[in-house]
Amino acid sequence: MKKFDKLTVCLDMRGCPNRCRHCWLGDSPNGNMSRDDLVFAADTLRPFADRFEIDFWYREPDFCDNYAEMWELTEKLSDEKTPHFELMSFWRAVRDKDYVPWLFSKGVRECQLTLFGGEEKTDFYVGRKGAYSEILKAAGLLLESKIAPRFQIFVNKDNIGELSEIERLIEDMELEKRCESFGAKFNLFVHQGSCDGENEKLYGVRVTEEDLDKIPKKLSDMTLKYFGKKDLREVFGEKERNLCRALARDRSTFDLRESSPVFYVDGCFDVYPNISAPSSIYKLGNLKNGGEEIAESYLENKSSAQKASAEVPVCEMAEKYGDFKSERLFSAGDYRVYLLNKYCALR
Ligand code: SF4
Repeated sequence: MKKFDKLTVCLDMRGCPNRCRHCWLGDSPNGNMSRDDLVFAADTLRPFADRFEIDFWYREPDFCDNYAEMWELTEKLSDEKTPHFELMSFWRAVRDKDYVPWLFSKGVRECQLTLFGGEEKTDFYVGRKGAYSEILKAAGLLLESKIAPRFQIFVNKDNIGELSEIERLIEDMELEKRCESFGAKFNLFVHQGSCDGENEKLYGVRVTEEDLDKIPKKLSDMTLKYFGKKDLREVFGEKERNLCRALARDRSTFDLRESSPVFYVDGCFDVYPNISAPSSIYKLGNLKNGGEEIAESYLENKSSAQKASAEVPVCEMAEKYGDFKSERLFSAGDYRVYLLNKYCALR
């Protein structure tokens, strides 16, 4: 069987303490996987790649109590280990005094935290009370360790009017000045996210062009700078009706396979490629049945989503499931995945 150039395998060993309404990874039960399960996953899938890497999370980073030990184990089990992402667990940061210094020791100098407006909206969107105050506390802990917090702000029609609260927060916490004090920059960006997983349920409140005027100038300027864009429309994308019209003339298909894919293994050992929400339409197989079925399913486009993407012209999907009157904004790539998911779920 053909080998992948590189295969990265991520296990959902513990899941996530949050249930974010925008989560593209969906809302599945938390796993309870062991160190032996991680070794088993590595042993099962390593033979299918020239280079292999494994990680112990794909939802909340470092949610395992033994995150430091798991990091070391994944280093040993990987041919090459990607440096720690600029993602963190604010849940852990406020409960474990060793965590933020550990992030620093791993070379992390900027870390992303997600807000949705003020306390009420952030708690609502993260799916649990107390999330907002934990996020603010985590930002303070990052600054104490000379790690710059970076704010990601997801907006929909029901929270875009609350962004002035975040503007005030930046002033109150003196985030720019405090980052500058250790030679770092405070960054922030606003966007609407993809439209899959839990986020697909927010289709009804997805932003339209006139909503973009509600974004305060400071947040808009910071967003443009962060993405290197000139206009917010370049960040938020095109109106759905325009995308539909263009795609209705497009007979192209899209092969989702990559030579160096990332596979997600959920708490039940089901395996999915990192394309969209890990759901049945993308399922490659179960690790307990061996790695061959999984590699073959990916390489031969066997899942219903991979197969449809490779064989069905996008115009058919747009005609069936696109809304030719909608003003909602999407990036072109996200919209194609949205249509594919609709096509596979509803046909
Ligand atoms: S977005 Fe991240 S923190 Fe929120 S539920 Fe999904 S994995 Fe957890």
